[in-house]
Amino acid sequence: MISEAPSPQAVPLLGLGLGELEAWAVSQGQPAFRGRQLHDWIYAKGARRLADISVLPKAWRESLAAGADPGGANALGRSRELLRSVAKDGTTKLLLSTADGLSLETVGIPSRDRLTVCVSSQVGCPMACRFCATGKGGLQRSLAVHEIVDQVLCVREVMERRPSHVVFMGMGEPLLTIDSVLAAIHCLCTDLGMAQRQITVSTVGVPATLPSLAELALERLGRAQFTLAVSLHAPDQALREQLIPTAHAYPLETLLDDCRRYVEITGRRVSFEYILLGGLNDHPRQAAALATLLRGFQSHVNLIPYNPIEEEDFQRPSPERVEAFRRALQERHVAVSVRASRGLDEDAACGQLRRRAALPSL
Ligand code: SAH
Repeated sequence: MISEAPSPQAVPLLGLGLGELEAWAVSQGQPAFRGRQLHDWIYAKGARRLADISVLPKAWRESLAAGADPGGANALGRSRELLRSVAKDGTTKLLLSTADGLSLETVGIPSRDRLTVCVSSQVGCPMACRFCATGKGGLQRSLAVHEIVDQVLCVREVMERRPSHVVFMGMGEPLLTIDSVLAAIHCLCTDLGMAQRQITVSTVGVPATLPSLAELALERLGRAQFTLAVSLHAPDQALREQLIPTAHAYPLETLLDDCRRYVEITGRRVSFEYILLGGLNDHPRQAAALATLLRGFQSHVNLIPYNPIEEEDFQRPSPERVEAFRRALQERHVAVSVRASRGLDEDAACGQLRRRAALPSL
């Protein structure tokens, strides 16, 4: 049946700020304070459905839920959990379904004093980095603001703990969807009370986007205090192109110039991620080349030992090899850390839970 009545809301309520929710309540013929109640229930209480927001008048709730979509389940913009996978160390991967039936991954990574949520910015990814499971399936679409914020709420709900950190290191390339990413950061800080400094945006590099990311962040967030992490993975252009096909359109020198520009505009130092692939980019000689490349740069290098994926036979380097690479950087005065592998027993590498779910035998 096709309803003649206009939908009571064009966009999901999740992702809207207090002022927008108040304006929306007024547009629905309700007093503005209903917007404050909605805000409290959506963000602080984590309501999943309008019907659950018991402080709202019942008749209004019912008419909204009826108009939103069959059953009203998505009026708020929350996803549905399809699969949950919990590793021995507590790392919790969720496979979530969007309203249009696409699935995406989000991961909660707990430690004693923090809970980090690794969020996806896209369903799939067009960048096709060779070592990345997500890249094997191409891009479906970018995520909207509510679909990014929902991931943080889902992890909070499942792990019964307030996330302290958010990293855009799940599926997708955040710099291909800057508007949604910045709006999501704004929502996480303003509506969920997170600190911008506890948020990291990771990119493999999209030509001509880094300076505009810096400028748009200042414009829309008032300041650019989140951490920018750039996935470098190689100390020279030729090897980088082998690992990251899109790198051919973005010379390493230009990428680093853009990073310097980002530092100038934001006053924040940049992190570089470097995946260690045994026998390919993990020789101490390559660490020396990396140190030379980054000379004079306010930066930090994060080494990530490769998490094996099915489609490729790259090697995970031995702990000794990782340590030798780390030491070679440290000796050259590069600030460096090694990312501890979390939840390796539960398809830790990006995009793997989704691929497992797609297999008919599971
Ligand atoms: N597109 C963005 C963010 C998503 S990937 C980016 O490339 O930065 C987040 C991080 O996970 C990147 O540093 C990426 O290189 C790393 N990664 C992807 N596949 C991996 C694997 N199999 N093992 C280890 N790290 C991986």
